[in-house]
Formats: sequence, structure tokens, C-alpha cells
Amino acid sequence: MSVTHGTESTAGPAPGGPPPEETSSTGASGPDPAAMAAVTAAARAALPPEAIIDDHLRLRTYECDGLAHYKVTPALVVLPETAGQVAAVVRACHDHGVPFVARGSGTGLSGGALPRKDGVLIVLSRMRTIREIRREDQRAVVEPGVINLDITRAATPDGYYYAPDPSSQQVCSIGGNVAENSGGAHCLKYGFTTTHVVGAEFVTPAGEIVQLGGTAPDPPGYDLLGAVVGSEGTLGIATAVTVRLVRLPEEVRTLLAGFRTTDDAGAATSAIIGAGIVPAAIEMMDALAIEAAEAATRCDYPAGAGAVLVVELDGAAAEVAHEHELVERLCREHGAFELRDARDPAERALIWKGRKSAFAAVGRISPDYIVQDGVIPRTALPEVLRRIAELSSGSGVRVANVFHAGDGNLHPLVLFDDAVPGEAEEAERVSAAILDLCIEHGGSITGEHGVGHDKKKHMGRMFSDVDLDVMQLVRCAFDPDSLCNPGKVFPTPRLCGERPGRKAGVHPLQAAGVADIF
Ligand SMILES: Cc1cc2nc3c(=O)[nH]c(=O)nc-3n(C[C@H](O)[C@H](O)[C@H](O)COP(=O)(O)OP(=O)(O)OC[C@H]3O[C@@H](n4cnc5c(N)ncnc54)[C@H](O)[C@@H]3O)c2cc1C
Repeated sequence: MSVTHGTESTAGPAPGGPPPEETSSTGASGPDPAAMAAVTAAARAALPPEAIIDDHLRLRTYECDGLAHYKVTPALVVLPETAGQVAAVVRACHDHGVPFVARGSGTGLSGGALPRKDGVLIVLSRMRTIREIRREDQRAVVEPGVINLDITRAATPDGYYYAPDPSSQQVCSIGGNVAENSGGAHCLKYGFTTTHVVGAEFVTPAGEIVQLGGTAPDPPGYDLLGAVVGSEGTLGIATAVTVRLVRLPEEVRTLLAGFRTTDDAGAATSAIIGAGIVPAAIEMMDALAIEAAEAATRCDYPAGAGAVLVVELDGAAAEVAHEHELVERLCREHGAFELRDARDPAERALIWKGRKSAFAAVGRISPDYIVQDGVIPRTALPEVLRRIAELSSGSGVRVANVFHAGDGNLHPLVLFDDAVPGEAEEAERVSAAILDLCIEHGGSITGEHGVGHDKKKHMGRMFSDVDLDVMQLVRCAFDPDSLCNPGKVFPTPRLCGERPGRKAGVHPLQAAGVADIF
């Protein structure tokens, strides 16, 4: 379950299922004292004293990520400043069989950086140096704790920016973005993080520092960088990332369109893409999301709108002017009753403020809520939104929709009040049913927030056992001892000794002679 509006007091207990402390996937039995003492000693030898936290109260600062619903206090927290320090800690964990979890800014919404009670949390937030901006190569080399937006801030004077822009871009780290293959409003045109990462310095689960990818395109051999991007911190730790920079466009135009219904707004989205236009962004919000954004940011969206679209066009001025005319026409043809063009950067910022603060804004209209994250083919939007509305009216659970309409990435916000008995459970039921809708319509259980701890239980709904075992073989090739962020992504422990032990019997892939168990 994805409850984000979480402070300790507002985030309720997980409806259904034991809290994570009781499950083996969070190391609930606690650390092996001798192993942890050895790792702590190694960390003290490699890092300055202020970079090591073992005091219980201070450890609790790190007990959850953006999904405040799940909490586990780690046995040890380290805050390295160099790749060498990361490698030293990882090597000690490897040598003594202690699990470890990487953490960037802790804004993840799937519990990916949820610590292990028996393990070490390696926090990369002190590795914040932008090592190089190479204008001639259109590349930047940055440390993993660098904040997403800071890359753009550093590149802008040279006429460049970093395109992937999660709504959390003011706080999330590039290391977390790489691990989650994060998306954002502008990924419709420019692609997700994976399109923009060309190299990484990487600490393997054995504590070796290796280089993956590089500045030159298409290195020979397996695409190990491709495997690492989106692997949710389960294959090792990125200690530097080489990213592609994109030229700042000559012209940017941002348009706000008000529609009576989400059906109309969805149809306008399909018509725009169908006309061959790829806007930099097309974002949609429904009436409830607009109400929340209005209350929080006074963004002045069209009164009475059942849905708004934020359409951003960028590129050469002549091209943008032509596309703008076409987008306006298509919006009107599909029922837009109000069209507003941002006349200056302040108006543009206000339009985006309403959209980008939408998650937090929902706190204005509901004490608790689940941020769901799923993806569907764009053309299924009207049907899926209708079915979500039916789920909502049938259950009495309010659902606000705010999403990247251009690439079909939904973020239904399922509202509830944890103080009212039964509401959390009903919200969880609706939230899970929304994921079923996504799968049913050819989509997936996560569009961009990842599987992490939260959604591993849903993996079996998308993948067969054989599919999951093939993925595990990749994981085991990097991490045969299952020490790197164990208990995340995969629903059940299997293969290569992932605790609590190997799957019994001969695996079908072994029997077919296509894979070995390590
Ligand atoms: C308000 C809000 C809005 C958001 N909007 C978006 C959005 O539009 N699009 C989107 O995709 N996400 C969004 N997110 C989710 C989140 O911000 C992203 O997943 C982000 O990439 C997480 O970065 P982080 O630094 O906080 O990572 P963390 O939460 O610290 O960690 C996330 C995962 O990355 C791993 N990890 C962290 N650093 C490293 C590293 N150096 N090497 C290897 N693994 C590592 C962790 O182990 C964990 O599994 C949003 C979150 C919030 C709270």
C-alpha cells in the first residue's frame, strides 16, 4: 500500500498483513552481533566518526522513505563521501554476510530504501559534487547524491538542461532516479532516466568499483548499465553517474485547457498525439485533484472544469507556433471550454505549480491517501478512468486523478481517513483493484515509482514464476549472496540462496538446460 501523506501520527498501520518488522524480508530477527560489530569496525576505519550513526534515536531518522507507512530501524547508518568509502563498507558487508540498502534522498514511494533491521543503510546524500559539465560532449558527471534539479541549474548557463523531471526534482537524488528509472512530466518527449544515463561508476555487491557504459556510444558486450538502471538498488550502488544533457529549447509554450469531463480531455490527448505532435508534456488532472491543487496553491485553474490538461510544447520557435495552433484547435474540437496560454515565466510557473504540488495538495482535502502508480496504453485512458470512477462510486472511496496523460502513467490518489474504522482497508481494496484495471488493459503495476517493498506482492499478477526466476538469475549474477537490498522487488525468495533458502527441486530453466543456479 502506498500511503504518502505520512507523518508518524498520520500514517496508519498497514491494512492486512503483518507489519514489515515481522517479516523476514526486513531482517526482523535483528543483526548478528559479531558480524555487525565487524562491519561497524570496518566502517569506522574507513569513514570519519560523524559519518557513522549507531545511536537508536538518530537511526530512526532513516526508518522509512517517502512511503512513511512502512518503518524499519536499521542497525547502522553510514554517510560516505567517496566511492572508496562506499566500497569499503560494502566489502565489509560482503565479507561478514550483512545486508545493506542504498538510500538517496528518501523520496521513493515504493519502500525501495526501506532499511533492514539486520543491516546497514548507506546514505549517499553527502556525495553531492557535480564533477564535470562537458558542454562539448553534452554530458555531466555527477555524484549520486546530487539533486536532480541541481544538474539543470549547473548546465543552464551553458545552454543545456537535464530532461527527466520527476515532480520531486527539487529534492530527489540522481542515484535514486537511476535506481528507479524515474520519469516525469517531460519524459513523454525526452524519455525516462534510462535514455539520459550513459555511464556509471558502480560499487558491486562484492565491494569492487567498476565502470559501466561511458561517454562513447554503444560499448561492446552486455548492456550492464541497462540492467542497473531501474534495478531499484538491488544490483549494487552507483557512486557517480554520467548523464546526457539536452539543449535548452528556443521556445517553450505552456497551455492550460479546461474540459467538462476526463473523457473529453483523454480524447484530446489521443488526438494531439494522433496528429503527430509529441508535446514536451501533457498532464491531466480531474475535478478532485483540481480542487486540492486550488486549495493548496491558488493555481487559478478554469472554474467548473471536470478535467484540465497542461500541454507544453518546446523546440524551434516556428515549429512550436505551428504545433500550438494545432493543439488549440484539437482541444476545442474535443470540448475544451477554456484555453489559457502562459504569457510569461510567472504564469507558466503557476500552471506547473498546481500540477507539481498535486500529491501534497491532496492533504488539504483528505487526512490520509494512497498514491497509486500504474501505467496503461494511452488509448485506454478514457475506459480506465471511467472504471476508476465506477470503483469510486461503488465503494464510496474518493479517488483524485493526476497523471502524465501523454504516456498513460496514472497516479490515482485514493482518499481515506485512517481514524474511521474500515476506511483504510476499503481504500487499499480500491487501490489494488486499480492495478488490476491497469494489467487488464495491457499496462503494468508501476509506471515510475518502482516495485520496492510495497508492490512485490503484485509481481506475480504480471509475471509467471519462470519470468520471475529469469529476473532472479540476473540479480544473482550481480549479487549471489543476496545482500544488496534483499527483500525488495521479488515476491518470494527463490534461487541463489535468497533467504530463507533455495527453491526445492530442479528449476524448469535448469531442466531445460538454459540456466544454472549459482
Ligand atoms: C511528491 C513526490 C513526487 C514524486 N514524483 C515523481 C515523479 O514525477 N516521477 C517519478 O518517477 N518519481 C516520483 N517520485 C518518487 C521519487 O521521488 C523517485 O522515485 C526518486 O527517483 C527517488 O529518489 P531518491 O533520491 O529519493 O531515492 P530513495 O528514495 O532514497 O531510493 C530509491 C531507491 O533507489 C535506491 N538507491 C538510491 N540511491 C542509490 C544509488 N546511488 N545506487 C543504487 N541504488 C540507489 C534505493 O535503494 C531505493 O531502492 C515522487 C516522490 C514524491 C515524494
